[in-house]
Amino acid sequence: MMNWLDSHCHINDEAFKDDLDEVLARMVENDVLEAMIISSHVEDFEYALRIDSDQIAFKRSLGVYPGDVNETDEKTFERFKEFFADERCQAIGEIGLDYHWDKENKERQKGFFLSQIEIARKLDKPIIVHSRDAIQDTYDILKDAGVRGVMHCYSDSPEMAREFVKLGFYISIAGPVTWKNARVPLEVVKAVPLERLLIETDCPYLTPVPKRGQRNEPSYVVYTGKKIAEHLGIAEEAFKKRINENYHELFRL
Ligand SMILES: [Zn+2]
Repeated sequence: MMNWLDSHCHINDEAFKDDLDEVLARMVENDVLEAMIISSHVEDFEYALRIDSDQIAFKRSLGVYPGDVNETDEKTFERFKEFFADERCQAIGEIGLDYHWDKENKERQKGFFLSQIEIARKLDKPIIVHSRDAIQDTYDILKDAGVRGVMHCYSDSPEMAREFVKLGFYISIAGPVTWKNARVPLEVVKAVPLERLLIETDCPYLTPVPKRGQRNEPSYVVYTGKKIAEHLGIAEEAFKKRINENYHELFRL
C-alpha cells in the first residue's frame, strides 16, 4: 500500500503552534506519511528542521516569498543563501510573482525571482513557484530558466498548465478542486498528464471540502487526492503510487 503525501504545507506556521503533535498524529492516521514543509523566513526554516516524526518523512524548502520582497534587504537575503546551499534544503521556494496584493513592485519581485532561479540552477535544486495574477510574466521568466520545479497551488487555465508542463514543470493541485465552484481546477486536472500532477494542502489555507471553514492541515490532503482520482476515473491506489513517483522524481537531489 502506497502512502499519501502533502507536497506543500506550512506546519511551521503560527497556526500550528499549539497542537502540532495532534496534527502529526492525524497525518499518520490518514496515511499521509510524507510532506514538504515550506519556509519563507530563515527562522521558519530553522524551526522546520526541528519538526520531526518517526513515521513521517519530511522534506524542507526555503525561499523569499514574492509578498515579502519589499522587506527583504541584502543582508537578509545573504542569510537565505547560506541555507539554500544546505543539503537539508531540498528545494528553493516558494518563489515567484504575486500581483494580487502589490503591482507597484513588479521589477523588485522579478529581481528576487530571477536571482533565486539562478541559485537553484547552480545548486541543481527544484523550485516551488507561487504565481498569482501574474501567470504570463511567470511563464516568460520560466521559459528560459533552465530549472525544474512545480507550479504550486495552480489556479490558472488548463491551456497555461499545458504550457508549463511543456517546460518540464509539475502542476500541484490544492483544496479548491474540491469546492463547489471547481470547474476550472477540474479541467486543469484533466489537461495535465498524470506523470506531471502533484497534490498539496498549502495549509493552513485553502481547506478542502468537507473540512472547509476549518484550519487546513496535511491530513486533509486525502480529500483533494480522492476527489482528483475519482474525477480522473483512476483507482485510488494507482493514483497514490503515481503521485508518489512524481514527488520523488521532482524532489530528488
Ligand atoms: Zn505556500
